[in-house]
Amino acid sequence: MSWTPTREDFDRYMLPNYSPQRVIPVRGEGSRLWDQEGREYIDFAGGIAVNALGHNHPALVGALKEQGEKLWHLSNVYTNEPALRLARTLVENTFADRVFLCSSGGEANEAALKLARRYAHDVHGPEKDTIISFRQSFHGRTFFTVSVGGQPKYSQGFGPVPGGIEHATYNDLDSVRELISERTCAIMVEPMQGEGGVTPADPTFLQGLRELCNEYGALLIFDEVQCGVGRTGSLYAYMDYGITPDILTSAKALGGGFPIGAMMTTDEIGRVFVVGTHGSTYGGNPLASAVAYAAVETIRQPEVLKGVQQRHQLIREQLETLNQRFDCFSEIRGMGLLIGAEFNERYQERGRDVLAAAINEGLMLLVAGPNVLRFAPSLIIPEEDIREGMARLERAIASLTV
Ligand SMILES: *Cc1c(COP(=O)(O)O)cnc(C)c1O
Repeated sequence: MSWTPTREDFDRYMLPNYSPQRVIPVRGEGSRLWDQEGREYIDFAGGIAVNALGHNHPALVGALKEQGEKLWHLSNVYTNEPALRLARTLVENTFADRVFLCSSGGEANEAALKLARRYAHDVHGPEKDTIISFRQSFHGRTFFTVSVGGQPKYSQGFGPVPGGIEHATYNDLDSVRELISERTCAIMVEPMQGEGGVTPADPTFLQGLRELCNEYGALLIFDEVQCGVGRTGSLYAYMDYGITPDILTSAKALGGGFPIGAMMTTDEIGRVFVVGTHGSTYGGNPLASAVAYAAVETIRQPEVLKGVQQRHQLIREQLETLNQRFDCFSEIRGMGLLIGAEFNERYQERGRDVLAAAINEGLMLLVAGPNVLRFAPSLIIPEEDIREGMARLERAIASLTV
């Protein structure tokens, strides 16, 4: 028990599919973290858009402790109160009539894709099986979801990929018109691409997808795993656009740091998932559901959602000031508290260098590809922490030679 692991132990014991930063955080409070040496960091990464209420939020800790002393797990052979509370609040606050609970975003998308295929199969017949998604999109790491995702490097080298998947160009409706047909069973899209570079959809593009789906009898699936649960300033991004999907997936911020995912849909579509068609041992786990319920109930409060827009403005202003000083970004984009700053010619491929320099200055940050800095902080990050984090980012960029 007295053994203290080090970063070297990662390279010794873990598979080499990640390359974590050199410090090991051990404690968090709000939007600040401390490492093994007691050094403090400002958190602009938010566990990749997961810690929407920061670290150690009393509502989440309270829910975890309370449920932790009652009941942890049952399986789906029995239902439980926290899962039903969570499902009810999701139904009452969204377009959805029905919810499937699982443990991650990839699993929620896997369920969404299977549901879309099954619905088309049962209602229209087995030929209607093609899924359209977008280049640069990210939908998870299961084999179906990496294949639907638009980054071939994630699905290559793992053997034959599932068929019936086509990729169009994001924000280019004509590229979808070229592919869509009576065989199309679903279009899967992120209302704002996260991993692919923090790119919001044009409203006319999403509206066009909605119309094409209606015309061809295909289901519109919004992957809101990264952009949902308050991230854009609405509970879900589809609300900002005023365009309703047929299926929506949620995870990341849904559990505020506890692993959970959800797939939501209408009565009409959901009815094809009859007993035995799909499942997950941990789906609707009481511990996860209790924390997620507390997260959703806290995040959907108007003062939290309104604060997201104010913080967006402040971060954007600060990034523009930074850009005036260093001439480093070609574009600053995003919605709410998912913001991307794309490097210009002078700073090409410097994303990982900035991340390492930021750690030296006491700042945790993300990239979305080699050329985009990504900001996904807590939705309630204090203004003071934004200003201090930006000062640290300024020092980090100043420390690079270009
Ligand atoms: C992170 C992410 C996923 C995958 O979620 P996991 O919980 O890692 O399985 C899927 N879609 C989008 C848009 C994401 O950002």
